[in-house]
Amino acid sequence: MCGIFGIVGHPEAANLTYLGLHALQHRGQESAGIVAAEGDTLRGHREMGLVADIFSADVLGKLPGTAAIGHARYSTAGGSHLRNVQPLQVAWAGGGLAVAHNGNLVNGQSLRDELEAQGAIFQSDADTEVVIHLIARSRKETLEERIIEALGRVQGAYSMLFLAGQKLVAVRDPYGFRPLVLGRHKTGYVFASETTALDLIEAELIREVEPGEMVVLSSDGGLTSRQVFPVARLGRCIFEHVYFAKPDSVLFGSSVYEVRKELGRQLAREKPADADLVIAVPDSGVPAALGFSQESGIPYDVGLIRSHYVGRTFIEPQQSIRHFGVKLKLAAVRQVLKGKRVVVVDDSIVRGTTSRKIVKLLKSAGATEVHLRISSPPTAWPCYYGIDTPSRHELIASSHTVDEISRYVTADSLGYLSMEGLGAAVGDRNSSTFCNACFSGNYLTGDLVTPVPRPQLELVYG
Ligand code: AMP
Repeated sequence: MCGIFGIVGHPEAANLTYLGLHALQHRGQESAGIVAAEGDTLRGHREMGLVADIFSADVLGKLPGTAAIGHARYSTAGGSHLRNVQPLQVAWAGGGLAVAHNGNLVNGQSLRDELEAQGAIFQSDADTEVVIHLIARSRKETLEERIIEALGRVQGAYSMLFLAGQKLVAVRDPYGFRPLVLGRHKTGYVFASETTALDLIEAELIREVEPGEMVVLSSDGGLTSRQVFPVARLGRCIFEHVYFAKPDSVLFGSSVYEVRKELGRQLAREKPADADLVIAVPDSGVPAALGFSQESGIPYDVGLIRSHYVGRTFIEPQQSIRHFGVKLKLAAVRQVLKGKRVVVVDDSIVRGTTSRKIVKLLKSAGATEVHLRISSPPTAWPCYYGIDTPSRHELIASSHTVDEISRYVTADSLGYLSMEGLGAAVGDRNSSTFCNACFSGNYLTGDLVTPVPRPQLELVYG
């Protein structure tokens, strides 16, 4: 997954992009990059690592200019290599061009095969590079027309920023899978994956970039917008609300915090538990746990403390490290838990490894019963639109019942939120404007997705 940010009309464009990426760091912790434009000259810096470690004052000082785009990445398509770090930057017949992409193209590989057969040489494994080749090959006159033609050939999820000199172009795919907002700062405009980045730089939210829309900020300070792709069916990612986005953001028009709290309230109504206290798996489970507590009347307390000095356990590559990581990340508060029947609320179960560790941790800290409540339905299908989920056979819910999962994680009970409950919490009971493929297997670009073999996952209980 990724966070993207772009700004024009500011004398310290790279510095503000750095701040914007910092606010979006939760969307990708593997690598980051900024490309700034001074006049028509693009200069970029990309590295593996966290935004704050990559961009020193020295590095930012080498990125002068009044326009910039930036990207914070966790790889979904293309491996974890420096050559894949975005923004991708090229020099082509039309001048310098930099691209930052959040999302995943489902036909990226087939387009790449086609382009390679025609002689194209790729510099990265990123699906985004396909778009650059298509732009360069287009016979259309303007950059905007070339982008439209190129994106007309790709399928899948893209919120994209293109920087060419002082011109910044933003496009969102017609499903609107990934978020993208437009804001205004004192002397120009800004784009960001989430509103939290606007808040940090004290920019004012204007609106979302609409699905299928292209917004162009030109060098004279003008803003133009066009609907370039028709919208047949919206597919805004529901998992952004469940887990991915930052709770202080306003996403797809709703407060992430309020939605998560409502998920918890709904969960308490659907899957009540007889318990003494409600605790959260921090940080992502906190708003839902508060909602659960308010709805059920069971007091909320802090039973788990998260260390902020380790990354998200999920992104550790090795199973052995991930096991270890849960203990590194979460500590149980014995004084709160001892002798208590506890409801513990988390946002999702992926492989089940984290939940199992947490239940054991709570019991060894003295909890007499642990009732696990999940503020989303079972995650049974991988995401092809930009969220990093493992393959289907690694998803515990793809091949196990709720009872089996409960037994595996050693909980006294396990309850997931229903699909309807999830829909209701985001204000769309049938999820007709959302993509919920990770829970339903209903892929909106279905025919293009390679069929997945029957899942198999052997669990060791106890
Ligand atoms: P697992 O041990 O694989 O079941 O991991 C479950 C935990 O990972 C939950 O606490 C979620 O908050 C978190 N999680 C779910 N999806 C993702 C994701 N795509 N990236 C990182 N963490 C995730």
